[in-house]
Amino acid sequence: MHAGPPVPPARGAGDIPVHERHPCPTVGSQAAVENRVPMVTEEVAREALLSFVSSKCCYGRAAAGDLVIQKLKQQTLCRYRLETFTESRISEWTFQPFTNQSVDGPQRGTSPRLWDIRVQVPPMFQEDMRKFQVPHSSLVKGCHKCRGRGRYKCSGCHGAGMVRCPSCSGAKRKAKQSRRCQMCSGSGRRRCSTCSGRGNKTCATCKGEKKLLHFIQLVIVWKNSLFEFVSEHRLNCPGELLAKAKGESLFKDESTMRQTIELIPLTEVHYWYQGRTYVYYIYGTDHRVYVADYPEQYCCGCTII
Ligand SMILES: [Zn+2]
Ligand SMILES: [Zn+2]
Ligand SMILES: [Zn+2]
Repeated sequence: MHAGPPVPPARGAGDIPVHERHPCPTVGSQAAVENRVPMVTEEVAREALLSFVSSKCCYGRAAAGDLVIQKLKQQTLCRYRLETFTESRISEWTFQPFTNQSVDGPQRGTSPRLWDIRVQVPPMFQEDMRKFQVPHSSLVKGCHKCRGRGRYKCSGCHGAGMVRCPSCSGAKRKAKQSRRCQMCSGSGRRRCSTCSGRGNKTCATCKGEKKLLHFIQLVIVWKNSLFEFVSEHRLNCPGELLAKAKGESLFKDESTMRQTIELIPLTEVHYWYQGRTYVYYIYGTDHRVYVADYPEQYCCGCTII
C-alpha cells in the first residue's frame, strides 16, 4: 500500500490526463473540499496500482508498469456515521461452588433495584459486557446434582473401577488363540478409563464442594449501534470498501451519540494496455486500490512475472 504523506496535486505538467472533479454536494464549497483532499495525480495512480499488484502473487507487474493512463475521474464522497451508545441490564439466578466465603444474604438488607446498582461504566462507544453479583441476594444450598455428596458413582464401571477387557470381551484369551489376552494379561478385566479406576467421579457442578452459593447476577451489556450513509456516486466501486475507507474528518460531535462526517476521495482511473481499456479505482486518503478486471491475472500457484 501507499505509504507516507499524501502527494500534493501536480501543477503545470504538460500532458497530464483529463481530470474530472465531482465535489460532495452537501458540504461547503468545491474549493474547501479540494483543499482538504488532495487530487490524485497520474504518478500517484500508477504507484498505487504497482504497490497493489506487487501485494498479489497472481497479478503480473508488466501491465501496471506499461499502462497508459487516459483519464482520472475524481469524486469526493461524504460518509456520515451516527453511533448510539446504549446500556442494557438483565438479572438471572445463577450459582457457583460454595467455598466457605462470607455470604451476603437477605439478612444484611434488601437487594437494590437493577438500575440503582452503581457500576463503573466503560469509556463511551466502547462495547463491553460485565457480570455483577447483586448485593444481599446470596444463599447456600446443598448441591442438587450430587445430592450434597461431592462425588458420584462412575457410570462407566458402576463404581467398580474395572471394566470388562475390550480386547477379549472378558474371555481372558482371544478367539481361536491359545495364548492369554495380552491387553488384560489374562485377567479379563481392565481399569475403567472414565474414572481412572477410582469408581467415582468428582461432581462437576459443585467441584466436589457439596454446597452451592446461589445468587442473582446482574448482566450489563454496553452496545454501540452504527448508522452509516455514503453520499451518492455513479462509480462502480463496491460500497463495503467505501464503508471501510480511510477518510478526512470534516465534522465531529460527541455526547451520548457520536456523529461524524468524513470525506472519502474516490478516483476512477481509465487506462489503456495492449489495445484495450481497463478501469481501476483508488479510494480513501491512504490510496487503496480496487481492481475489477486486470489484464494479467493468473490463478494462485501459476506463473508469477
Ligand atoms: Zn469408572
Ligand atoms: Zn483381555
Ligand atoms: Zn455436587
